[in-house]
Formats: sequence, C-alpha cells, structure tokens
Amino acid sequence: MRISISLLFSLFLLFNIGAQTQPWQGKFEPIDNMISPPNTYRTASGAPGKDYWQQRADYKIKAELDEANNTLSGEETITYYNNSPDDLSYLWIQLEQNVNKKGNEDFGSINNNITDGMNARQMQFLTRAINFPAGYTIKYVKNEGDNNLKTMVNNTMMKVKLNQPLKSGESTVLNIAWSYHITDRSMYLLSREGYEYFPEDDNTVYLIAHWFPRMAVYNDTEGWQNQQFQKLGEFALEFGDYEVEITVPSDHAVASTGALQNPESVLTKKQRNRLKEAEKSFDKPVMIITKEEALTNEKEKSNKKKTWKFKAENVRDFAFASSRKFLWDAQNVKLPTNTVMAMSFYPKEGLPVWKEESTKAIMHALEVYSEATFDYPYPVCISVNTSNIGMEFPMISFNGGRPKNGKMSNGAKAGMIGTIIHEVGHNWFPMIISSDERKWMWMDEGLNTFLHQRTVAERYPDFNSTTPNSIVPFMSGDKNILRPIMTTSDSELMSQFGANFYLKPTVGLQMLRNSIIGKELFDEAFKEYANRWKYKHPNPGDLFRTLEDASAVDLDWFYRGWFFTTDNVDMELNDVKWFKVYEEHSNIEDQNQSAKLKIEADGKSTEASAKDFSNGPETINMTSTPDASYGGFLSRLDESEVRKQLSGKNIYEVTIKNKGGLVMPVTIEWVFADGTKAIDRLPAEIWRRNEYEIKHTFVKEKEVSKVNLDPNFEFADTNTKNNSFPKVETASDFEKFKNKQSGN
Ligand SMILES: [Zn+2]
Repeated sequence: MRISISLLFSLFLLFNIGAQTQPWQGKFEPIDNMISPPNTYRTASGAPGKDYWQQRADYKIKAELDEANNTLSGEETITYYNNSPDDLSYLWIQLEQNVNKKGNEDFGSINNNITDGMNARQMQFLTRAINFPAGYTIKYVKNEGDNNLKTMVNNTMMKVKLNQPLKSGESTVLNIAWSYHITDRSMYLLSREGYEYFPEDDNTVYLIAHWFPRMAVYNDTEGWQNQQFQKLGEFALEFGDYEVEITVPSDHAVASTGALQNPESVLTKKQRNRLKEAEKSFDKPVMIITKEEALTNEKEKSNKKKTWKFKAENVRDFAFASSRKFLWDAQNVKLPTNTVMAMSFYPKEGLPVWKEESTKAIMHALEVYSEATFDYPYPVCISVNTSNIGMEFPMISFNGGRPKNGKMSNGAKAGMIGTIIHEVGHNWFPMIISSDERKWMWMDEGLNTFLHQRTVAERYPDFNSTTPNSIVPFMSGDKNILRPIMTTSDSELMSQFGANFYLKPTVGLQMLRNSIIGKELFDEAFKEYANRWKYKHPNPGDLFRTLEDASAVDLDWFYRGWFFTTDNVDMELNDVKWFKVYEEHSNIEDQNQSAKLKIEADGKSTEASAKDFSNGPETINMTSTPDASYGGFLSRLDESEVRKQLSGKNIYEVTIKNKGGLVMPVTIEWVFADGTKAIDRLPAEIWRRNEYEIKHTFVKEKEVSKVNLDPNFEFADTNTKNNSFPKVETASDFEKFKNKQSGN
C-alpha cells in the first residue's frame, strides 16, 4: 500500500492528540520473551509437542508402622523408565523427611524474630531446642543385581550413582531400605504429615506422607528438578503405578491412596457388607465403622498386626492415614464416566460435623471439578480429619477442622468444608495436571482455588466465596514487599503466599471468565488446558498459551500485568463533558438560552463546572465538511443526516486515567435523570494508544445524572472513591492530617 506523505502528515496531526505524555511501557506487547520459547516438546499453541516426553517411576513398597516407637520402616523397589532423549549417569531421589533434621532448617522461610513473651512452640520452630531425631536412615540402595550403589545425600536430595549410564529408552531398578521417626505434627511449622497424639485415650492418628524415597523429576525444562525441599514449595513428582503393603496394629483402620486389594483379610464381614451397601448409596454415606465401634477399638490396643494391600495406577504420589480411632463413612458418587467411592475417616473428636459434612463436600467437589475439567478418574476419594492445615495427595487428603465441645461456628464450618473441597480439588491440580509445585506454587494453588471457590459459590451459596474485591487489600499493599505471581515458591513471604499464590490467580481467572473472555469460551479453554496436560507436566507458558489458543482472545496484556507485575487496578473517572449538537436551522433562541445558562453557571463557580453537570450541556457547532477533507473521493456523506441523527442528543466525552498501572476493560454505568441505568463496556485494548489516559465519546438519548466506573466491582479497583462523576468530595489524607493538626 502506498499513501502520500501529505496524507500521512495530516493523519499524524489528526491522531497525535491522543498521544501519551509518559513513557510507553508496551503493556500490550507479546510476552514471548518472558516465557520459555516453544519447541518440539511444547508447542507455540500451548500443547504437548510431538517429541514431548516424561519419565516414569513404578513403586513396590512394603512398610511397617511401629506404634510403640512412632517409627516407619520400609523396603521399596523403584522401576525407573528413562523416556528422555538423554543418557543419565546418576539419578536424584527426594528425601523430604530430612527437612526436619537439625541443621537442615528451612532456608529463610520462617520469620526469625525473637520477641518477648514468645511461646514455647514458636521458640521450638526457631531454635529446634528439642533435637528430635528426624530424617531418614537409609539402610541400603541397591541395583537389580543386588549390588550396593554409591550415594550422596545433600539435605533433602540423594544422588544415586549408576554403575553404567541409564540409556535413553531404557529402565533400571533400584531397591532401597529405609526408616524414619515419624514427627509430632505440633513440633514443626508447616507440618503436612506426622502424628497427632490424643492423651485422653492414649491413642495416635498417623498421617503418613512424603514418607518413602521418591524419584525427582527429570524434564525438558530444567533437567533434574532437584531443588531442596524448604517446606513452602511443595512437590514435583513422576507418574507411575504403585503396589503398597502397609503393616499396622490389627485394630487400626487404614485410609490410603489406591484400591484395597485384600478386604477379606483386613476388614470384618460386617464392614465388607456395609461397604457393599455404600456402593448402592448415592444420596448419603453409610457408616463402615461406627462411633461405638471406634470407641471399642480405642480401648483395645492390640499388639497383633495386619497388612493392608493397595494398588494405585497412574498416580504421582502415595499417602495413607492409620489409627484405631477412626470412624469411617462411605457413599458412591456417579460421574458421567466413572463411579467413585467417597469416604471420610475421622476420630470421634470430629463429630458431629465430620459425619454430616465431609463426604458430602467430597461429592460436591467431585461433581463440579469433573464438569469443569474431566471426570475424576480414580476409584476412591478420601477425606481424613486432622487438627489443622489441609493437605492433598492422590485419592486422599488430610483436612483440618474440628468442633470444640461438639460445636462449630458457621465460619469455622465454612472453613472446614472449604478445606475439604480445596484438598479434594488438588486431585486435578497438581495430582493429575502435574505442574511443578516446588517452582510455581501458583500453578496448582491458583487454578485449584479458582475451582474450589466456584464449587463453594455454586454448592454453598450461603458461604462467603472469593470475588475480585477479595484481592483489593493485598494489591493495595506496599510495593516494596509485594512480589509478582510469577515468583518461585520459596521466594515468597510466609505472610504473603496465600494472597499471592492462591487468591490473586483465582481472581485473575474469575476476571477472565466473567468479564474478559466470557464464561462459555473461558470454560472451554480451561477444559482444553486440563485435558492437554492431564497426566503431564505443564509449565506456566503452556497455560498462558492454551487459554489464548482455545479462545482467540489476546491475553498477553493480562498475563503481563497480572502475573508479571505488582501493579494494581485504579481507574479514575477524571472528567465527563456533556455536549449537544443542534440542527443548523433549529431554534436559535434555544441555543442562546443554553449558552446563557452556561454563562450563568460559569459566573457562580468555575470549580463546579469540572465536577458535575450543573452547567448544562456545552453547545458545539458542527461545520460542513470542506471538499478538501474528502481528498479525491467524489462521493459525499449525507451530512444533514449526520446532523439529524445527533440533533438534540446528549453526547458525553469521558476521560479516564490509569492510576494503578494495570490496563483493564472499562465498565461504565450511566444513571439517567429518570432513574434508569445502562452499562457500556470497553475492552482493555482501549488503552493500547495511551496507557495512562483515554477519552471516549458516547451518545445517549436520555440525560445523564451520574456516571460510575466498574459498578459491579469486576476488576479489583483498589480505589473506588475516584470512580464517579459528579465527583464526590473527599479530603486527601494530607488534608485530613492538616485539618487534624489545626484542630478542625
Ligand atoms: Zn492447596
């Protein structure tokens, strides 16, 4: 295309008016240089590529719980498949129990303040004054030929040196024997597992997780993911099949990942019959172990043993809980392509709310998440009660929340149910859509909290759930402390990670769904991401790319601002100007009158004119287009029709300033003089030409009395005081301070 220099120049003059006066920040530029480039493993559309590969690890484990000494010991066989294109001369194994060893204190994730009046537990977190013998004793690491392999332990990682490199496409077998002292959960900060002792009846509930040496992930993104476990950043794990035998006191009930293989040798006939009944119960749970039976078990304290055998296919981890205190209930949940046994295990201390709410909450989570992603694929889904913290594993989660003296406030109950939904939801993110938690906590927590909050909003409408307003206090915070969402897990502060890695991504996804992409397209794109990365290891770029790829909505501006910066949304409705255009031959007297009105208003107060509509409309003259403006065109607009269409109508020119830095769609609510309302929406792209200030013109039949920005609080605007016109007079903080000082 060719255009003349003079036309270019006149276009420049015409559009130069809207140029911004502050530096351009490229808020709508592609984020390609901020995420990993696409390759044959991961495509530019966000899907696994033609050469995508991941490793696989199958486990056969025999473990025994020693209740007298609170120890767990085991022997395991790992079959490790090297599907990578690389030959590996050593393997890395995760030893998470070592994190609690004295000397392996978390690297800075605890607030190291000593304060007067600090309690003993906080002091223990800080100093590990009681030197508990935490961590593994590794008895041996052998290869298939029963030869000892050389190992080196670096805190929570163990390097196993192979005698010959493990070639691409081949597998190897490791046999490892180990034991460790199970930790008292009350002794450590962020204890996701361990035991809880109940002094009243001298019994213990064991929550057993990251308990066996597990293969570290080796992938196309960073080779070995052997970043140390520092507690905040959770896990990166490979998929595989598990056969696990767990020996416990014979009066214990075991809740576990996987399907129970030997019910006839560990369950009574009565319990097996009740489980059969539960298979037919789709509306309420059936008690498998009743309260009375649990109370009898509490007293028994058998010194006999039983071995529970479980199998789990295509899981990335394995956890279990064991106690003689457990009550147990179960019911079936029917999904379009799978029927799942939902079960809860809890001590009597969880009654009555656990019996009433836990299994029901599992059912709600299974239904909503399955609909939003893909059907829950496993045979069981278990919720185990614990004192505090919720923690997720495949098919089983440990969920905090107990009544006090049988009573629970509504708020506490909402928290408990929310925890169960959340931890069950983790079966999708990250247990199946297996992102790297150690690196990107937000990828599983953010996406999971988004669906968890959707489940609460849809199934428990009486409970509070997250909305964009929920993130306003956090995003209004001190920018010297705030980190972007795209911050690696262990670099976040203990005080901030909940808001930054859970809530902010949740709100971001809510805004995409409800206000930017739209529900139908968003839901399809989200489902596409879940299905593309099912049983695989997605990176942030894969999520970003897929949501765009499946929706045809350019979201780079959104990712750039919401995920990579700490900017916030604060739009200011700076000015609204009201104009009227009259027909050339309309009543001159009318025009004079409004002009007079304007002069009168001006006479009263020049201040008021910029703050409200009291001046009335400004009359503007629309001139006839000179021939020169048509250039070479011979055709002419019907100019009288333009004039007719606009005549007498109210034309509003709105000026909006971007104070917070984040660009967002603009929602404008018009309140008309007759009391009715209407909404106009402008896409975020309106900020492309000027990232700091935009002007936009609207034509309204009715006279407007008030204009509001973001009336439904869709965009987490941190300051809504500057969102209205006529402007609401609010004294600045400085003025308030000054007034206070002068005694006003
Ligand atoms: Zn979580």
